[in-house]
Amino acid sequence: MKEKLKRDQPVAYRILENALLGKSAAHAYLFFGDKGCGKLKAAVLLAQSLLCEHEGFACETCDVCRRVEENNFSDMIIVDGSEKTIKKEDIMHIQEEFNKTALEATGKKIYILNRVENATADAMNALLKFLEEPASDVTAILISEQLDKVLPTIVSRCQKIPFRKASIKDRLAFSKTCDMDELDAYLCANLTADSDEIMALSEDENYQDAKAWAMEVIEHFYDDPYMTLLTIQNQAFNDKKGNDRLQFSYFNEILTIFFRNVLMQKSECRDDTWNEMMGKYSKKQCIEYLSICVSTKNRFSKSVSVKLLADSMLIRMKEVADGE
Ligand SMILES: [Zn+2]
Repeated sequence: MKEKLKRDQPVAYRILENALLGKSAAHAYLFFGDKGCGKLKAAVLLAQSLLCEHEGFACETCDVCRRVEENNFSDMIIVDGSEKTIKKEDIMHIQEEFNKTALEATGKKIYILNRVENATADAMNALLKFLEEPASDVTAILISEQLDKVLPTIVSRCQKIPFRKASIKDRLAFSKTCDMDELDAYLCANLTADSDEIMALSEDENYQDAKAWAMEVIEHFYDDPYMTLLTIQNQAFNDKKGNDRLQFSYFNEILTIFFRNVLMQKSECRDDTWNEMMGKYSKKQCIEYLSICVSTKNRFSKSVSVKLLADSMLIRMKEVADGE
């Protein structure tokens, strides 16, 4: 995890490393940034690092590190606001537990509040009081995706650690070091926000199926929209396991990426077929195809049949092709 943090969140890594090495750890941290930046995993790493005997960041292999990772460390409490609203009782419970003598040999107590913005007003006030009387052996790690929904007086009591989404440039640089072909490297870097997921996505069956169908459209639609439409109707989105929604969202995303590339008339993709096909579509067509992809994405909800949505998307695209 520390290597990943260093790679994906260099700013957070540096601030935390300095604090850990300088032994100047704060009483309260606030990790903030968009969803999918690995804040909770980083919070667990910080907890490990504060408890592990290893200097600086945690070793991540010792007994303490392992138990923290498994959330099985007696002097650590995690309350996850992404699963339920954080209530005043949750904060009181932490306070009560931490008033007792530490159970573990490290003598340190840590609590992590994930998605702290999902706390009730009462819980926020209780938390503020708790933060106002810091005990030397207690560290708070708060995590938020929406800083403006956290009491400013709470925010000001914490050391703020910014997390950012890896840029597409960072993700592409990473995916090119992975063992996968050019097309997967390009698409997976575009489809995920997290470098850990790039490798997993490239091996995901739903992604691979969606990619095959999207490439079917990309390679044949300009030439024979009717046949392409029939092929997709016959072969795609019949998944018995109920993954057709996921497949369709990848399919739509890949086409969106392709038409955007055509519109920009450039691509970071090094796949020969992809680049050759970019030359087969006119900018004018692509504007219309893109708008169809986007409006389809907006209509994509639980109530809509994926098969019908895919049909109507391709029929609308075919009307554009026929109009040329
Ligand atoms: Zn350790």
